[in-house]
Amino acid sequence: METSLYENVGRQFGKAADMMGLDENIKAILSQTTNEFVVNFPVKMDDGRIEVFTGYRVQHNNALGPYKGGLRFHPAVDLDEVRALATWMTWKSAITGIPYGGAKGGIAFDPTQYSKTEIERISRRFTYALGNNIGPEYDIPAPDVNTNPQIMAWILDTYLSTVPASIRQASIHVVTGKPIEAGGSKGRDKATGQGVVYMIEKWATDKKFDLSKATYIVQGFGNVGSWTARLLKGYGAKLIAVEDVTGSIANLEGIDPDNLAVFVSKENGVKNYPKADSIKSDQFLKINADIFIPAALENQINAETAPLINVKLVAEGANGPTSPEGDEILFKRGIDIIPDILCNSGGVVVSYFEWLQNKRSEFWDLDEVDHKLYRKLSDAYDKVRDVSREFNTDWRTAAYIVALRALENVYKRRGIFP
Ligand code: NAD
Repeated sequence: METSLYENVGRQFGKAADMMGLDENIKAILSQTTNEFVVNFPVKMDDGRIEVFTGYRVQHNNALGPYKGGLRFHPAVDLDEVRALATWMTWKSAITGIPYGGAKGGIAFDPTQYSKTEIERISRRFTYALGNNIGPEYDIPAPDVNTNPQIMAWILDTYLSTVPASIRQASIHVVTGKPIEAGGSKGRDKATGQGVVYMIEKWATDKKFDLSKATYIVQGFGNVGSWTARLLKGYGAKLIAVEDVTGSIANLEGIDPDNLAVFVSKENGVKNYPKADSIKSDQFLKINADIFIPAALENQINAETAPLINVKLVAEGANGPTSPEGDEILFKRGIDIIPDILCNSGGVVVSYFEWLQNKRSEFWDLDEVDHKLYRKLSDAYDKVRDVSREFNTDWRTAAYIVALRALENVYKRRGIFP
């Protein structure tokens, strides 16, 4: 039976809410999304045909600030998935203390089957269909699976073309993850991976674990997986296996992530990488390594796969890679987890920095971005660790409690209208 991702979120949320004794009224508010848009829109294909696409935008909560979250282009995108991803965004912003709520969106289609010009028209027409349901102070999209800075630039251009000329320049923060030339921030491309690596570094310091002798495996070698792999190399750690949608590869002597990234950018996947052996997916999961970085899709670590995993730490680059059953198994086996809503929050934090730079017409140096990112994530990590000790609980539940405390405080102060 297909697992509902949104049900998984509900289970994670319920556990934390009960443990901390979250106010029942606030629990009722946060267990629902606020707005859900489903838009069907026609797009002209290169051969003149018209195809109708289905796009989604779910806004979970904006008590802490404007709705914020990525857009995903993937055939598995549906309302259940987008609701779950939107909700995780609310927790992520609350944990890191940035003034955003949570949202997510996407279009259900496989972009590998479409030309670049078709993808441009699909992105633009989706933006047009969303209309004023997104906006620079209201709901701010960003990249996610199969979307990138180029797509953000098309969204920006389309949005700006639909607002009055006098406010165009003041609206470029309607989307983040833009190319630098179009108002993007230095360090946004690597931000999620950079955050994952900062979190692994904090964990290693806590555990007195020597990262220069570590081995790691990565699932998904797109934006998050490849940047994490490349940045971990800087600590002397050794990448020994990688899996993506095209296949799985391993080399116990080490795989150079920079060299693999060049190969993947030409070949669109890790399959046939000449400096590693091709292996089966279940072999990939069984590899004995110190750190596993899931950076692909959801529910990869579940009741069937969690018993196979042979690592000390799972650092969740992806959103929702571990099901509640998978969580339980990893916990019993003593495998540490840095949960998604903490581990991959570097992306939204640097999106916030990009948004601030746009609002202030500033350009920050990479050092400044990295330094500010480290401070935010380091504080968030410390809070989650302290709460896990306070409640003697797992890190995912602790991360939820950190987020829910922040949201509970704002609701208690503001009250409910009328
Ligand atoms: P991406 O499109 O750049 O890369 C996705 C990778 O996953 C690709 O290498 C693809 O081959 C691989 N993949 C897809 N299906 C797979 C499968 N069935 N088995 C193995 N590998 C598979 O996407 P991304 O932006 O790197 O996002 C990856 C994950 O990180 C997602 O869960 C996303 O929500 C999360 N995330 C992304 C960001 C961001 O800033 N881009 C921020 C936070 C979290």
